[in-house]
This record gives sequence, C-alpha cells and structure tokens, in this order.
Amino acid sequence: MATGTTFEVGQMQVHILDDGMFVTDAGNLFGGSRKARIKGAMHPVLVEAGNDLAFIDAGFGPELPELLVGRYELTRDKNLIDHLDESGFIPDDVTHVILSHLDPDHVGWALNPPSFPNAKVYVQEAALEEARQMPEKDGRRAAVPAVEKGVEEGWCELLDGDGEVLPGVRVEVRAGHSAGHQIVWLGDGDAAALYTGDLAPAKIWLDPDLIAGVDTDPEAARKNRIEVLTEAEERDAPVILYHEPGDCLVKVRSDGGGFKAVSVGSGE
Ligand SMILES: [Zn+2]
Repeated sequence: MATGTTFEVGQMQVHILDDGMFVTDAGNLFGGSRKARIKGAMHPVLVEAGNDLAFIDAGFGPELPELLVGRYELTRDKNLIDHLDESGFIPDDVTHVILSHLDPDHVGWALNPPSFPNAKVYVQEAALEEARQMPEKDGRRAAVPAVEKGVEEGWCELLDGDGEVLPGVRVEVRAGHSAGHQIVWLGDGDAAALYTGDLAPAKIWLDPDLIAGVDTDPEAARKNRIEVLTEAEERDAPVILYHEPGDCLVKVRSDGGGFKAVSVGSGE
C-alpha cells in the first residue's frame, strides 16, 4: 500500500501518490547529533471532488533543491508527474493545490517551477509570514518569492485560518511544525479522512512526546498532534502519513500515552 493507494471518502476518490524517497541524517530531523540515517517518502495526495482535482502538498519538484544538496539524497524511479499520469490525469487537470506549509519537500511541483497551469495554490498567510522571517538559506524562505509572485499573478491565494477550499475539503490550522501549518480533513457527514502534513508525517510521530528538531514550536506541535490524532480516532478516520516509507494509510488508536497505527480494514 506504499504507493498507488486509492480509496473513497464519501463522494470523493482519493489517490495517495509518490514523489520518491529521501535519506538524511536523523540530526536534521530530530536535532542534536544523531548520526543515524533516516528515510522518508513523499506522498502528495490527489483528490477527485466533482469536477475539481486537488493536490494536497507537492513533493520536491523536478529535482532536489540546490540548498539541500549534501544534506539530503533523493531517489526516485518515477516522480509525481509520472504517477499523476498513471492515475489518468495531466498537470492541466489540477484545479487546486493546498500546501500544508512551505518546506521544500512539500511545495516543489507547485512552486519550483509552478507545474499546474490551471491550479490555484492555497497557502496560509501565517506560513508565508514566518517564511519571510527565516534565515537567508532556509528552505521555507526559499518559497517566498514564488508565493509572492503567485499572489501578484492571481494563481496563489493566501488563507487566514480554517475553511473549506472545496466542498468536503476543509483546511484547519494546526501550527507547531511551522506557523500556519494546515492539515486537511476530507469528507462530508460521517465519512472522513485526515491528512496530517508534518504535524504527524510518519508512524514514529504517533508518539506525541517525540521532540522534532524541525518543529518551530515543539509544545504547540505536541498539543495539536494529540488533539488531532484523538479526533481521528474518535471519527475512525483513515490518516494519510506524508513521509511514511511503509504503509502510509493507517488508522490510529490510543496506546498508553501515545497512539499506534493499525491497518485500515483490520477491524481493530
Ligand atoms: Zn516534510
């Protein structure tokens, strides 16, 4: 189920796509001097909603951004556009792109270069504001010129908080990993699925006490992670894990002080 997973949420078809794998030093993700190498996938999500086609996050783009060369390695046989093609779509078909935040492993195909000519790109204003304050060589800062150009040219829209981007596609600001970090709830009525972005991007993040060196505000991230995963459990919603190299569509269950992942359909 690592790639090519398709499932239904209410009237919507949801495809979990793939933009390759990265390998980096654990210290880049967790802080300190952890020497272990850690591997992460990138799973942008494609949502068919009526006549609209929405991406949630957009991988690294055509190649690893210059400022990450040496710190990250990127391996892929096929990229996101190849997988989009395999799903029966072309970039022109995409009408909406929701960016959870402005890190380079999430914005690539949306911004560098803009690869969906008919799409509007949705960014939280708070995420842009934070990115402007980041140091010169920071990955988030690198997204600022493209977002500002998009706003000027009308293909990028800045959001101010929670709301529906499309019927059944609702963004909710859950900061901590970054300012203005948004998650996405899919569905209508009882059916629901959750895209957690980098609030809980892989199974290891289901431990709320994990302190990630990449979180701007670890305390806010911890609180939001617990609240959001609790709601996902209560609603029995499948959770899409953007960076999970294994099974990236799971359900979550409370487990001691944290959560564990169970397979969708395992009936647990
Ligand atoms: Zn990420």
